[in-house]
Amino acid sequence: MPDQTGQAISLIGLGHMGSPMAAQWLTAGVGVHGFDVAESARASLQEAGGTAYDSAVAAASATAICILMLPDSRIVDAVVSDLIAGDALRAGGIVIDMSSSEPMRSTENEQRLNALGVRFVDAPVSGGVRGVVAATLAIMVGGDAADVEEVRPLLEHLGAVTHVGRVGAGHAAKALNNLVSAAHLWMTSEAVLIAERFGIDRSTMVDVLNASTGRSVSSEVKWPKFILPGTFDSGFGAALLSKDARVAATLTHELGLPPLLGGQVAELWARAVGGMSPRADHTEIARWIEELYASDREEA
Ligand code: NAD
Repeated sequence: MPDQTGQAISLIGLGHMGSPMAAQWLTAGVGVHGFDVAESARASLQEAGGTAYDSAVAAASATAICILMLPDSRIVDAVVSDLIAGDALRAGGIVIDMSSSEPMRSTENEQRLNALGVRFVDAPVSGGVRGVVAATLAIMVGGDAADVEEVRPLLEHLGAVTHVGRVGAGHAAKALNNLVSAAHLWMTSEAVLIAERFGIDRSTMVDVLNASTGRSVSSEVKWPKFILPGTFDSGFGAALLSKDARVAATLTHELGLPPLLGGQVAELWARAVGGMSPRADHTEIARWIEELYASDREEA
């Protein structure tokens, strides 16, 4: 599809989130020049009307705005290093890291890029695949105010933009949001399964939570849509949510604060994810807790 708005971006990472994000921008007339290590993801972008390249350097060289939607900071940092080494970034250009990355490492990436005259903004998102498709993502942006205003129209094709502070602030806010979300899903799952042991039907307990003060997105959406029907297909991996909880717990430590409930939530998720398939959806935590309860009963 031609760049109808005259605007074009490169997008590195075309997974669960990156792929529908590309589709939204293409629909809005923004040209998408993409790369993913997975060939199938590159083929999907090409089919959707974007242009796929065989390296991140080649994709990023095509545009002044480079967007990253990658699993974690380790991969983000490696890709940024490749882009710098491959001379893919233009002075005056901008890199937007929309992955859920580590705030302190984002400030390091900002410095590496600023040294080349390239600007950096972090813009992680909440709302999942459904949020991308409905263009209702919550996008929390960290960066210089002028840079944020410059990229705001582009990001608003995907949802609502909130400028939360300096570079890294978006990633900090995102990790902390997901720490809360991880606690909600874990506790909701425990409560529903404890209720079931007492003889209360699962869906009845979910209805009770939703009519009461214990409700959250976990009780209102995740349990009814992905856990009760047993589909476990929200499109957000358990390993990614565990990573977010760890990032928030690490930030707590880096800020010199003692680990309280957040540290325990991160530890619980890490333990669970260690026993799950690497591709498990985060909603499968309910099944993991159910199996733990069942094995404890057998051992008792
Ligand atoms: P995903 O694993 O589905 O997609 C990541 C993509 O990156 C994959 O297609 C993978 O092949 C590609 N990739 C890995 N290494 C690469 C490299 N070196 N170069 C190019 N491509 C590479 O993950 P996702 O669910 O799309 O999540 C992406 C980011 O968004 C993560 O940081 C995640 O925490 C965050 N996030 C996800 C959701 C969700 O609901 N899925 C919601 C909010 C935020």
